[in-house]
Formats: sequence, C-alpha cells, structure tokens
Amino acid sequence: MIKTLKVRLYPNNQQKILLEKHLGSCRFVYNHFLDIRNKYYAEHKSDKKKGLNAFDTMKMLTQLKKKTTWLNEINSQSLQHSLVELDKAFKSFFRKNTDYPNFRSKKGNQYFIVPSGFKDKGSKLVIPKFMEGIEYRDESVIPDKIKQIVVTKDVDRYYASVQFETKENPERGKGTIGIDMGVKAFITASDGLQVEPLNALRKKEKSLKRQQKKLSRKTKGSENRMKQVVRVKRIYQHIRDMRTDFNHKVSTAIAKHYGTVVIEDLNVQGMQRNYHIAKSITDQGWYQFRTMLKYKLQWRNGELIEIGRFDPSSKMCSRCGSIKHDLKLSDRTYHCNTCGLVIDRDLNAAINIRNIGLIKVGKGIPEFTPVESATAAELSKGGLRVATL
Ligand SMILES: [Zn+2]
Repeated sequence: MIKTLKVRLYPNNQQKILLEKHLGSCRFVYNHFLDIRNKYYAEHKSDKKKGLNAFDTMKMLTQLKKKTTWLNEINSQSLQHSLVELDKAFKSFFRKNTDYPNFRSKKGNQYFIVPSGFKDKGSKLVIPKFMEGIEYRDESVIPDKIKQIVVTKDVDRYYASVQFETKENPERGKGTIGIDMGVKAFITASDGLQVEPLNALRKKEKSLKRQQKKLSRKTKGSENRMKQVVRVKRIYQHIRDMRTDFNHKVSTAIAKHYGTVVIEDLNVQGMQRNYHIAKSITDQGWYQFRTMLKYKLQWRNGELIEIGRFDPSSKMCSRCGSIKHDLKLSDRTYHCNTCGLVIDRDLNAAINIRNIGLIKVGKGIPEFTPVESATAAELSKGGLRVATL
C-alpha cells in the first residue's frame, strides 16, 4: 500500500533560490513542450503519427539543454518527469477524461516531482542537486521505501509530500456508524458522538475579513499593498492548515474505531444549486474530510458507504419510519407525532443515514450502541470539542 507523508521543508537562502529554479524550470519545460506538441498536432492531424509522445519530447529535451544551458542546474529527472506528466495529460484528454491540457501558470499549483535519488539524513532530506540536504521538521520519521517525492510551494512555504510503500496492516475498526454532516455540529454520529466545528477557524475568519478590508483600501501597485497581500495569503494558509489538521484528527479517530461508515453523498451538482449548502461544504472542508475518511478506512479494510443526498434522512423518524413533513430547519429536536420519539434532530438523521446505508448494501440494522468512549476520548485529547448525545 502506498501512503503519503507531508513534511514542511526549511531550506536555507541558497536552497530557496535553487528550489525556485526547479519550480520555474519544470513549469517552463512543461509549457515549452506543450507548445511543441500543440503545433505538431496541428500540422500532422491527418498523418499516421498524429502526436508526439513522452519519448519524442525527452529526446528533444536533451537537444534543448545544449542551447538552454541554465536547465542543467536542474535535476534532469524532475525535468523529464514534467514531460511524463504532460504525456499523461494528453492521454487523459484522448481518453476523454479531461479537458485539453492547459499551460501551467505561475499562479497555479507550484510543484516538481523527484522520482528517485532521495535519502533521509535524520532531520535533513537529501534529493538530487540538494546533496547537503534540506532541513525538515516533522514528528514522524520519513520511511525507507520512498516511491517518489513531490515538492510543493504554498505562498512562501515549501513542503515535501513523501510517497512510500508500507506493509503495515492496521486492524479494521469494530463499530458501524452513520454520519450526519452539519453546520451546527461538524458531524453527528448515529451512536451519539458529536464533534463541534473548529472554533478557532471562526476567529481566523474574522481576522481574514479585517485584513481583506484593509487590503481593499491600499493603493494599487504600492509596496504596502504587496505586503498586505502576503498577510492575507498567510491567513488563508493558516486556515487551510488548521482545517487539514482538524480533518485528519476526526477521520483518523473514526477510521480506527469503526469498520463501516455510512455518509451522505456530497453530490456537487445537486448541492451547488443551493448556495448556502455549497458554501458550508467548502467552508467546513467536507470534501477533504470525506477523502481522508475514505482512504483511511481503505487502509484498514473498512468500508465507506455513500447514500443519496435526498434520501429522507432528516424528516423520517428513526424509530417508526413515519415522515414529518413540517420539520423546519430551526427545529433542533425531532418530536415524532406517531410514536412519540423525542430525539436530537442530527442524531435522528445520523441513525437514518446508517440504516439507509446498511439496507442499501443488504446488511441488517444493528441495535443502538452508545458512543464508544474511546473515540470521544481520543478526539478531546487532540484538543477537539466533542459531546455525546
Ligand atoms: Zn416515530
């Protein structure tokens, strides 16, 4: 199984310059050969050989390096890898999976790939052209069997995503839960576990608004404006980091304790029609959470069951199945007029989500088991606010 570990790099000034050259040169090579492949395709459309492939462009790259000597400062494997990626982009386009390949912009994702030649020297990561090693800090140790490293830049920080192979086979969690994702609570699980949204995030968002307002008052093109742009970008970066950390904690705890998790499908098209729901999905990072949950469950041989968003999870009584048509968004408690059940609205929805999911995959519905205290304990230890309903 391939796992990824992302560590922050702390390059010295000289290394920073060389990292920038790598980012820029890989983008240059990608764009240069995209242009060549575009022209070739336009001229040879009706020929037997319609397009160039990765091998063709690699031969051309060797020629290019004779003229464009500054490219020799760059790890040649990283440059070649840009051509492999360009080739992938074309293949994916020809298979009609994606749009026609675009030029890479300075404003887009900044990265380059190191396919081999790395070594971990304790607190330093050695990659070709950086033989003295770039300092990194992380609690985890970089594992031996590295497959490839992707170096990225985010505002003014550098990271290495280390992809490695592991034989580790963690145990599948025992419980089964349904999860309701909400705005008031980040998640409510069918066993009563509730995780509150990250409060610190809200505070950061306030300061973001303040700084954005300041930015709007700065004169265009001024040095002060540039400084303010960096300030705003840093806050964005901080919010992203906090959210990622939060999502990691919640998804890890759930994947560890539950083998079967049912969740509502975040159908984009259906959701985007409702602006408020769409906004809270992006704000709360639900996509990221779901992605993490999915792969962490896979690591443990667990399963994520997705159900349609429009199954009546909130309006249905989780005990007798009758539908409450007049349930308002402001009703925090669900009162069933048929069987008399009184239950927290989100908990009722979570139980329904679990049941619908289990029926969908042909499994029986388990008895209600109270929240596994281990999950709640683990999350509060990680600094998250949890409640049990
Ligand atoms: Zn009922």
